[in-house]
Amino acid sequence: MASIDFEHIDKIYPGGTQAIFDYSLTVADGELVAFVGPSGCGKSTLLRLLAGLETATRGTLRIGGQAVNALPPQRRNVAMVFQDYALYPHMTVRRNLEFPLKMRDLPRAGIERQVQWVAELLGLDGLLDRLPRQLSGGQRQRVAMGRALVRQPTVFLMDEPLSNLDARLRVQIRAEIGDLLERTGITTVYVTHDQAEAMTLGDRVAVMDHGRLQQVAPPRQLYEQPINTFVAGFIGNPPMNLFPARLTATLDGGLRLLLGDQTLPLTLPTPTVDRWRAWLDAPLTAGLRPEHLRLAAGDGGLSATVGDAEYLGHETLLHLRIDGMTAPGPLLVVRLPGIRPFHKGEVVRLSPDSTQLHLFDADGLALVNGTVGADHIL
Ligand code: ADP
Repeated sequence: MASIDFEHIDKIYPGGTQAIFDYSLTVADGELVAFVGPSGCGKSTLLRLLAGLETATRGTLRIGGQAVNALPPQRRNVAMVFQDYALYPHMTVRRNLEFPLKMRDLPRAGIERQVQWVAELLGLDGLLDRLPRQLSGGQRQRVAMGRALVRQPTVFLMDEPLSNLDARLRVQIRAEIGDLLERTGITTVYVTHDQAEAMTLGDRVAVMDHGRLQQVAPPRQLYEQPINTFVAGFIGNPPMNLFPARLTATLDGGLRLLLGDQTLPLTLPTPTVDRWRAWLDAPLTAGLRPEHLRLAAGDGGLSATVGDAEYLGHETLLHLRIDGMTAPGPLLVVRLPGIRPFHKGEVVRLSPDSTQLHLFDADGLALVNGTVGADHIL
């Protein structure tokens, strides 16, 4: 087992594309960190750097404390699983599993022991004599993982390993992977563009955008305390609603939020109010998750107009715009339990849970207690 350290890594490809900017992150021994971000943000590049398939332009990469920048892939004891699992089609499962060990000239008995270990670990016992085409997609994926695990790597790298599977199978295999990695305790970097996958699998989740690490935190912290508008708008399904707003002072020394020509009173203790003085009347971005917007019973709250409603059975996602914004405001999503019929153009009253309100400065950075920082919500 081994820890992984990225220390100020830059990667510039021949031709000049800079894919990674000053990336620093430590993955602890036995930890599973999910790297997540939109397509093209640099996730696979980081994985390829770890595997030794690319070299860093600047910075140091360590596995188990040892700098590996100059170490060829075969000397890193790193195993990688890709999205197209590329099993050898003419070889049985057993021979596919044996292959990485035969390449290393291990004695026959050792090879058999290792194959048996991995077959038991992954529930492949009954499938060892089948060819890949005689397996289901999920079984093939398990064999691919087995082939990566069979040489007992110190580090396991997974690059979108579930993207070829249908939705149901994906959930099942995701759970199996989580269980497997917990049992083996192998340090793992798991790359995905799917935030739900990252949040369910990762001990921590590292969110990146345009080659830069945005935030790394346990899933719950990422959800509750996003460091900037990118993370807030990326994590969650649907993600956090973000909309322009201003803070103003009330006559009695409190604060309220201005949204176009509507106002939302905020209940904050007085010492906290003082901390927000510097932000009064500055253009800010407010953030509220879909589950923190409710429908008001009477005529209080904010007026909004329904654009669309998605009836999902267990819940209704209501898409609406807050009334009275100068430009047509962004579409907000409200999550309501059960099926609640609405029609387009209907005016509703929203009562946001202002204790769950997030505020971000003009650069998109989270404001915590009136300070640019990341630790807490308001
Ligand atoms: P992701 O895995 O997040 O989709 P990648 O790491 O594949 O992102 O790519 C990051 C950036 O680097 C993209 O702009 C991509 O076009 C560029 N890139 C990736 N591989 C190469 C390469 N071999 N040569 C030049 N540019 C590349």
